[in-house]
Amino acid sequence: MTVRVRFAPSPTGMFHVGGARSALQNWIYAKQQGGVFVLRIEDTDAARNKPEWTEGILSALDWIGISRGSYEGPYFQSANAGEHRAAAARLHDSGRAYYCDCTREDVQARTGSQYQGYDGYHRDRGLGPGPGHALRFRTPDEGSTVVVDLIRGEPTFENKLIEDFVIARGDGSPVFLLANVVDDMTMGITHVIRAEEHLPNTPKQQLLWEALGVKPPIWAHVPVVVNEKRQKLSKRRDKVALEAYRDEGYLAGAMRNYLMLLGWAPSGDREIVPWSVIEDEFRLDEVNLSSAFFDEKKLRAFNGEYIRALPVAEFIDACQPWLTGTGTIAPPPWQPEEFDADAFAAVAPLAQTRIAVLSEIVPNVDFLFLASPLIDEAAWTKTMKDGSAELLDDAVAAFEALESWDAESLKSTLEAVGAERGLKLGKTQAPVRVAVTGRTVGLPLFESLEVLGRERTLTRMRAARLRLV
Ligand code: GLU
Repeated sequence: MTVRVRFAPSPTGMFHVGGARSALQNWIYAKQQGGVFVLRIEDTDAARNKPEWTEGILSALDWIGISRGSYEGPYFQSANAGEHRAAAARLHDSGRAYYCDCTREDVQARTGSQYQGYDGYHRDRGLGPGPGHALRFRTPDEGSTVVVDLIRGEPTFENKLIEDFVIARGDGSPVFLLANVVDDMTMGITHVIRAEEHLPNTPKQQLLWEALGVKPPIWAHVPVVVNEKRQKLSKRRDKVALEAYRDEGYLAGAMRNYLMLLGWAPSGDREIVPWSVIEDEFRLDEVNLSSAFFDEKKLRAFNGEYIRALPVAEFIDACQPWLTGTGTIAPPPWQPEEFDADAFAAVAPLAQTRIAVLSEIVPNVDFLFLASPLIDEAAWTKTMKDGSAELLDDAVAAFEALESWDAESLKSTLEAVGAERGLKLGKTQAPVRVAVTGRTVGLPLFESLEVLGRERTLTRMRAARLRLV
């Protein structure tokens, strides 16, 4: 039997990191089993779906390594509506489902006002189809439904506790529970690997598989991803969109490595490992049962390590979207013609060891590409103290006299200027750095000045000096 798994997102918003994790788990499982990964877009909630969200899912999957053309699909749930209705009709015709026109108030009036469930009133009343008549599944009165779950063993649900649930609404449209089962069936899905939040649906869905006469799949319900307060990651409260991480400059390799560590770890106390190791070693049945903390700080640190491990040429390439403002990334503060690829290549190795996400490249190198630096006023006020004007005067004079404009000479020259005033290099550097880059922190100063060049450095130092008059 060929293993067939699916990832079945609903295109109702940005692509959630938890979804990306499920997609990767499905992807790896299919690969390990020599199986097939199917992508199905569950787009039946017409009010909440938008085509751009579908495109977002496809491109986010692509980014994370599940590339278009390397899986089956995408299929669209909406295209299967006929099958969903046919299945509802079959369940009715075989006596496994019946019509019901009770409102919640009707049920509550019969059973006591707090009752939220359904009391089975129409089970044997023979109501026919009609407007406002929902179709309910007749759940067994006895026995239990045992779900085979690769992570949880065999969760068992007593059938008498499962109410006769709705499978098609009063307007005849099948609900998610049924559509999802019918699609899995038609697509020959053998393993359903999905988030734990669907576990309460699973006994109902398994009953539907059985009632439709098909052997149910093996399930795997993966624990949810939570924030530092142990709350389930939410779109409104937490940064959950994979696209947001991508646009901030997380590397796909770091992201997918990190996502796979949520609730699982490779052998030998390692965390940062090549993807091929994860593909070999990952085991669904080793996934931890408790919810997994999505630690953005840790992800950042991870990403920094991935950035540092890149060959410089790849780092330079990877920075291009932030340097040129392509795609969905905001344009940098300089004009395209001001960008100088050689100057960037000269400082790139210095930046590579200092940034944790690629977007941080911009404030580190903007001084190179702008006609005048963007002055951080708070930094200016903090740094430009009594004596800074004179210090800049002396530094300008000393730099003007330099024969060779290189980092080494710049450093020893400024060091000497500071020494005359009894200042350490750090204190001497600060006003020069603010004058030239606009900031108090950044790339190593003397290398920066070397790349910026004599003219521009001196112009900026003189301009700062004038401001201090
Ligand atoms: N469309 C559902 C979701 O996004 C998928 C449920 C499932 O995987 O079965 O939550």
